[in-house]
Amino acid sequence: MRKTIAVVGGGITGLSAAYYARKWLRERRIDAEITIIEETNRLGGKIRTLHRDGFTIEQGPDSFIARKTAVLELIQELGLEQRLVGTNPRARKNFILHHGRFHPMPPGLMLGIPTQMWPMVKTGLLSPVGKLRAGLDLLLPAKRDEGDESLGGFIRRRLGREVLENLTEPLLAGIYAGDTAELSLKATFPQFMEMERKHRSLILGLLASKKQPPPKPREGVPKVAYSSMFLTLEGGLTVLTEALTAALQEERVITGQAVVGLTRQGHRYELELSGAEQVEADAVILATPANAAARLLQEQFDAAAHLEQIRYVSVANLALAYRREEIRHDLNGSGVLIPRGEGRMITAITWTSSKWLHSAPEDRVLLRTYIGRLGDQAWTQLPEAEVRRRVAAELKELMGIEAEPLFCEMSSLPESMPQYPVGHVERLQELRGELERTMPGVLLCGAGYGGVGIPDCIRQGKEAAEAMLTRLGDER
Ligand SMILES: Cc1cc2nc3c(=O)[nH]c(=O)nc-3n(C[C@H](O)[C@H](O)[C@H](O)COP(=O)(O)OP(=O)(O)OC[C@H]3O[C@@H](n4cnc5c(N)ncnc54)[C@H](O)[C@@H]3O)c2cc1C
Repeated sequence: MRKTIAVVGGGITGLSAAYYARKWLRERRIDAEITIIEETNRLGGKIRTLHRDGFTIEQGPDSFIARKTAVLELIQELGLEQRLVGTNPRARKNFILHHGRFHPMPPGLMLGIPTQMWPMVKTGLLSPVGKLRAGLDLLLPAKRDEGDESLGGFIRRRLGREVLENLTEPLLAGIYAGDTAELSLKATFPQFMEMERKHRSLILGLLASKKQPPPKPREGVPKVAYSSMFLTLEGGLTVLTEALTAALQEERVITGQAVVGLTRQGHRYELELSGAEQVEADAVILATPANAAARLLQEQFDAAAHLEQIRYVSVANLALAYRREEIRHDLNGSGVLIPRGEGRMITAITWTSSKWLHSAPEDRVLLRTYIGRLGDQAWTQLPEAEVRRRVAAELKELMGIEAEPLFCEMSSLPESMPQYPVGHVERLQELRGELERTMPGVLLCGAGYGGVGIPDCIRQGKEAAEAMLTRLGDER
């Protein structure tokens, strides 16, 4: 009998799951129908590129980390490898705001952790005491138990408060818009735990990881993929989601309707849609944010309560375009990170036209300012005009920008950044176990669970497709 698979959520995770599901179903000659159900009117989720007056403006993510292989594999499958673009090699310097001044990020920082002695001695980002405290990492014993702790607690324990607040937190918290005191170490940077276990010192662990050979280049993938730490696609990241959508054009795609109910009917599932329609499926891949999955699962089993504990933070970004001659700042770098303690509304500014040369015409400047992080959500209560006014005032103070922008595009992403609480990995494992027992064939994947970055989302979609296929294969 023909099998049916429902993929709920049309972000990068859901699209990747559907893509690999179809690919492998075809290869194994399994006859199955795939239905993708997306609440909004477009596929792509957080990935959204705007083209305006010759600018390429990312309204969600702007790039992905090159080192994680799932994304390059997918890009190559879709024939997009020639469109890969790296960051401008002449703009790789980054700055951190400290006591109102821009300080270059010391060379040798790996994920916000110092690995070179001399730049750390010279940096103005740490006091002499802060520098000595960071050096203690080389001597302190490793923690004995293997339980989870907060990312912030871990960095403070190994390297001290100043490294945490002035270097690590602005860099790492930028990825999660989070508070490192609340983020799970095991769920965000498990490699740090492993380094402490193996090398005792985090600095020594990072130095050892530097000695590992670089990933073997994939045949046919341009060199840029191995020379730039971050990559995007010419034309913007929607090139990826549009190529996935095109590859899935034979599937049934329902947009503009949310799944509002999910119930087990014997060996199958019934999905109730907001438009009152119903879809039946043998397997369901839930690729929505965790809070949406919580609404569908919480009445069915207890462990689903964990899904509600994954808090989501609201963020926004403003893309501002200027005539180049009106900006006096040299924009010599990728941008600036703004630590919590600086008391600004802006959390980071990317000098987008310096970082990504394809993003703006030559005689123009594009800046992207970010706002919103955990514990700093007051902006959500402000009228948009006030947010714009404050951002303009801070840009004037921080970068001397007085010119009126040619345009300013504000993108609000309410409840968009998941925060993995301490204990997340264990509770998720428990939840998946109970899900398997009570609702076999329902799979969870996406940014709310196993990594927020685009490569991790693709990997999770792929893993869900594989698990779904194993189940369908077992049933045949
Ligand atoms: C501002 C911002 C900047 C970022 N920058 C980067 C970056 O530079 N690099 C990087 O790698 N990552 C970045 N990220 C993270 C990354 O973009 C996301 O984690 C990733 O795109 C999430 O993909 P997803 O498919 O899991 O979820 P989503 O994109 O959220 O997709 C889930 C989909 O499910 C739909 N949905 C929800 N409920 C239902 C329902 N009941 N029924 C049907 N559909 C439903 C939603 O409408 C949505 O389209 C950024 C994120 C944000 C918010």
